[in-house]
Amino acid sequence: MVLDYIVVGFGLSGLSFVEQLENHNKSYMVYEDFSQKSSRVAGGLYNPIILKRFTMAWQASQQIKTAVSFYKNVETKLKKPLVSELPILRRFNAVEEQNSWFEACDKPLLEEFLSSELIRNTNPAIDIPFHYGKVKHTGKIDISNMLSAYAKNLKENNMLIDETFEYDKVAIVEDYIQYKEVKCRHIVFAEGFGVKNNPFFNNLPLYGNKGEYIIIKSEALKLKEAVKSSIFIIPFGNDFYKVGATYNSQDTSPEITIAAKEELQKKLEKFLKVPYRVVDQVAGIRPTVRDRRPLIGTHAKYANVHILNGMGSRGILLAPTMAKELYKYIEKGISLDKEIDCKRYENL
Ligand SMILES: Cc1cc2nc3c(=O)[nH]c(=O)nc-3n(C[C@H](O)[C@H](O)[C@H](O)COP(=O)(O)OP(=O)(O)OC[C@H]3O[C@@H](n4cnc5c(N)ncnc54)[C@H](O)[C@@H]3O)c2cc1C
Repeated sequence: MVLDYIVVGFGLSGLSFVEQLENHNKSYMVYEDFSQKSSRVAGGLYNPIILKRFTMAWQASQQIKTAVSFYKNVETKLKKPLVSELPILRRFNAVEEQNSWFEACDKPLLEEFLSSELIRNTNPAIDIPFHYGKVKHTGKIDISNMLSAYAKNLKENNMLIDETFEYDKVAIVEDYIQYKEVKCRHIVFAEGFGVKNNPFFNNLPLYGNKGEYIIIKSEALKLKEAVKSSIFIIPFGNDFYKVGATYNSQDTSPEITIAAKEELQKKLEKFLKVPYRVVDQVAGIRPTVRDRRPLIGTHAKYANVHILNGMGSRGILLAPTMAKELYKYIEKGISLDKEIDCKRYENL
């Protein structure tokens, strides 16, 4: 039997592509080795706004609609609560920032997401010199639970194998691909930063950007919204919060670091006024591209070898749309936007 697809990697990108396959009744097998953790450690926030500059992230007003309905469908299918609305409060550090916020509120596209009403802080646990700006229609996805529950179902149906995909075992035989005992029509590589080991695509300019969070417990904080200052505080219930994240493009080791913990605590203590304990720390490598656009498409030489990668720091919003675009491209020949097509780097 020849399967329609092999999917390598089961993070946000792999899961998003698998949903396309499910929706179109395609047969497939997934390989996942847990070597990368970006999706599993992510803060889980969906937010279309770049909170440093108060601008819209690339094509985010479209992506957010696709993404929210995508995760709600997965939630229904898995019968687990995965999507929750969570407003983001941007802490202003200067009056100029407050003024820029007001200017941004009136701009097309942004007005739907930026509230023009300033929010007064009523929580004594947090030091706020000015007000907050509120981003609307934002929320949180429980990615880790979603991936484990989905993977469990796949495993029960013998559609997910917990092992490292071995690139040197791939034989491309005219109209199909042989991988060990499995034959398939197409392979989609969705390995995140793991693509660096993939001889089909490791020439692409994807680099890692390590991100770390500390998890804190604070009984006195009592925060219900996500707060963004120089870092995020994201409530997770039962007095637990994720605090971060860091950005480091020099260190692509998977381990947590003391330097990141110290950096985050220093930033946190500038505005947190109550006691807290660090109870955990996590790290992952964001798959980031030089031009900050996803890397989607087909290998220059092999028409049935594809890539779905480059989600950077916005995988939650990007992955469902990018998976859809890649599927339409492979199955229906609908061309990819030049900005995302991996062919833009063909001559490297
Ligand atoms: C600290 C941190 C916080 C973040 N917060 C947010 C956030 O709040 N919102 C947001 O939108 N984004 C966030 N991101 C970014 C987001 O996590 C990424 O964009 C997204 O996870 C990328 O997903 P992916 O599936 O492409 O890659 P990955 O999550 O890296 O998944 C790739 C998968 O492939 C597997 N794999 C790799 N090689 C092989 C192989 N040879 N064989 C088998 N399996 C293999 C890996 O084990 C992994 O599971 C954050 C990232 C970090 C690090």
